[in-house]
Amino acid sequence: QLSLENITKEFGDDNETIVAVDDLDIDIADGEFLILVGPSGCGKSTTLRCIAGLEQPTSGDIVLDGTPVTERKPKDRNMAMVFQNYALYPHMTARENMAFGLRMTTDLSNDEIDDRVMEAATLMGIEDLLEKKPGEMSGGQQQRVALGRAIVRDPEVFLMDEPLSNLDAKLRTTMRTELQDLQQDLDVTTIYVTHDQTEAMTMGDRIAILNDGELQQIGTPEECYSEPENKFVAGFIGSPS
Ligand code: ATP
Ligand code: MG
Repeated sequence: QLSLENITKEFGDDNETIVAVDDLDIDIADGEFLILVGPSGCGKSTTLRCIAGLEQPTSGDIVLDGTPVTERKPKDRNMAMVFQNYALYPHMTARENMAFGLRMTTDLSNDEIDDRVMEAATLMGIEDLLEKKPGEMSGGQQQRVALGRAIVRDPEVFLMDEPLSNLDAKLRTTMRTELQDLQQDLDVTTIYVTHDQTEAMTMGDRIAILNDGELQQIGTPEECYSEPENKFVAGFIGSPS
């Protein structure tokens, strides 16, 4: 189980502080697909970055299977993050992009790394792209490679920050289904940030709705839609009034 225990993240100095994430307290079950939604600036990316260790919370703890990991470096958290802009290394081929993290964070042999890369490439259907560099690939292909790079690490937790938002509508629809199937097959705990209504209502087991850094409601899409806890949720989800 992954727990966010009273996570608060403030930015700024004594003159002006922004509370980007305000006392978030969420438990995510093993294998759960949790969607994090809310308007621009509500703290979605900051929350993910705190979980991944790319940002240090001002207070609170990230707890994985009963152990606080808040002080650990990103590479020691057994989590993999996928970004909106893919964030592949431009000078490396797809194969190298996928192998790099493994080489840095594990002591697997080169043969073992090759095997793992091939396995992830097969899962993502990108065997043909392995020798290409990001500049030689379409956006959709790059995002497949970025997903492959996350999968290859066999993480306990996937963190995805609007991974499909740069793709055209048709590809986005295809990838949505693929991602859902993949998440179920791998049975890996996933937190998926989006502000796409369709993704929020269809992809996950539960949705967590944020506004101004604060959790407004967490529940199944049906619950949030039919029993919104406040006006903000009702308006955001488009519940019938
Ligand atoms: P979007 O949907 O636009 O990606 P978001 O929900 O991901 O928005 P965040 O990026 O988490 O929002 O930002 C939350 C708040 O924290 C915003 O007010 C933002 O300006 C502020 N913020 C984020 N990162 C920093 C930073 N490094 N320094 C100062 N303020 C920051
Ligand atoms: Mg964001």
